[in-house]
Amino acid sequence: MYVKNSPISKEICLNSFEKEPNTEKRGGLRLEVFEPKLFRKNAELAISKLEKYLADSSIRGLALTEPSVLMQEAKKLMTKETNGLASLLEEKLEAIIDLYIKTGISVHSPGYMGRQFSGVIPLAAVIDFISSIINQPSSFYEAGQLPNVVEHIMADEFNQFIGWEPESFAMVTTSGGSLANLTAILAARNDKLPQIWSAGISALEGQYRPAIAVSEDVHYSVCRAAGILGIGEEQIVRLPINQKQQIFLDKVQPTLETADKRGLKIFCMVASAGTTSVGAFDPINELAEIAAKRDIWLHIDGTHGASLLVSEKLRYKLKGIEKADSFALDAHKMLFVPAMCTLLFYKNKEKSYGAFRQDASYVFEKEPDIYTEFDSAEQNFECTKRPLIMNLWVLWTLYGKALFANKIEYLCQLTEQAYQILQDESDFEPLHQPEANILCFRYLPSSLREKTFPNFQGAIRNRIRETGKFFISKVDIDGEEALRVVFMNHQIDTKHFRMLLDEIRKTGQVLLKVTSVDCSGRAGVGTQSGRASVHFL
Ligand SMILES: *Cc1c(COP(=O)(O)O)cnc(C)c1O
Repeated sequence: MYVKNSPISKEICLNSFEKEPNTEKRGGLRLEVFEPKLFRKNAELAISKLEKYLADSSIRGLALTEPSVLMQEAKKLMTKETNGLASLLEEKLEAIIDLYIKTGISVHSPGYMGRQFSGVIPLAAVIDFISSIINQPSSFYEAGQLPNVVEHIMADEFNQFIGWEPESFAMVTTSGGSLANLTAILAARNDKLPQIWSAGISALEGQYRPAIAVSEDVHYSVCRAAGILGIGEEQIVRLPINQKQQIFLDKVQPTLETADKRGLKIFCMVASAGTTSVGAFDPINELAEIAAKRDIWLHIDGTHGASLLVSEKLRYKLKGIEKADSFALDAHKMLFVPAMCTLLFYKNKEKSYGAFRQDASYVFEKEPDIYTEFDSAEQNFECTKRPLIMNLWVLWTLYGKALFANKIEYLCQLTEQAYQILQDESDFEPLHQPEANILCFRYLPSSLREKTFPNFQGAIRNRIRETGKFFISKVDIDGEEALRVVFMNHQIDTKHFRMLLDEIRKTGQVLLKVTSVDCSGRAGVGTQSGRASVHFL
């Protein structure tokens, strides 16, 4: 009987493919797919497309496509053959590359001001490409020799800016800042409450509840970590923030004391070096003293801002970082390499092994030799891991640290200038003096006072995204919406920022005109812009 999807039916279908010339078969495998020459041809096509993409410096945001439309477009490109064999049509590859590029946020355009991932320094992508072909999981020295050596080199390079004793500290790469935060908090828990790793939370027999102390404006990944580690949301102690959105030092001791009285045992404090919302830097130096006195592990979420370490001018914002037990730095944010590349630093090398102590004889050696002591698998969660450090190391090696320092300094200076511009505009209100390259503000024209328009800032942001000229983001500050720009692109200058302000004005005025307010106080839109109303609620 003919059974659909059986190996037999597959073989029959494969045989009908004989028409392709030069197609060798090995158990039905089409070997031309693996042809190095074909690889070169495909790669050259992609490179020529990407060269054009990089050369396009027009101001553009995101042309957002409706998912169902894009789904149709993507499906049209899929192979018609039911047995899973794609035809090797170059036009199809070209169409896929075009669609991929077209539907992405143009991170290299001066119109991109919205988020923390950056346009990359192109050479990094070349190295990334090599990593994809040689495909070495780098948690083990034998599989990723150069990446593992290079991790140690880069750790030492960064230590120039930190100042720990050589050989006393450690750095491990992780797939993202969220994972780095989780890893560090786990290392902290295993250090301060070692019994939990084997016996679980029940080992504490209810004597006290493990807790972490974090800024009120901490990144959500830290709270997730508390959930994952069984600490529980209720044991997250929120440290109040001041007007600059930094942890308010005067309130730290009293908050910790109240937590003590509630029977909480705070084993870890998380401060931010560059908050996601406004780029604020918590007072690391002072927090380190408090943490040390109370035997609390201090972790710095520096995923956004710890990259400022490379700049002599800006490094002071991280004063005291050498006193932290751990800190995370996303090179895929402010060091402009492709995602992912996160560096997680530990002051004490031994403790870097504390997060994941475990026996697994198929990978971990009881007695490390000169090779296995370079394995990072015991320090990071990933088993198969991309050689994350390579992109950064190659840029560092060929261009030097000045490239990063100069770009970061330019972006921070631009943000300061943008802040000055906002101060001079009566219809805009900057919400904070920028500490890095993130700036939040509101558009508050006088005509807004006459109307109730609860989500005005968010509506502007979404409407601008629809017109596709600029891409900016939105954030809640003190419970109210605000516009947010993140300058990640050195091609942006103050002229572009002024253009953005004009676009915000224009968009805001249109919204105010077409918006009526119903009795519930909710804004609705007139028929001309029915589409926009989708985003209002
Ligand atoms: C971006 C960010 C994170 C998350 O890092 P990913 O690399 O996106 O996982 C965590 N904390 C802060 C402060 C961030 O800005």
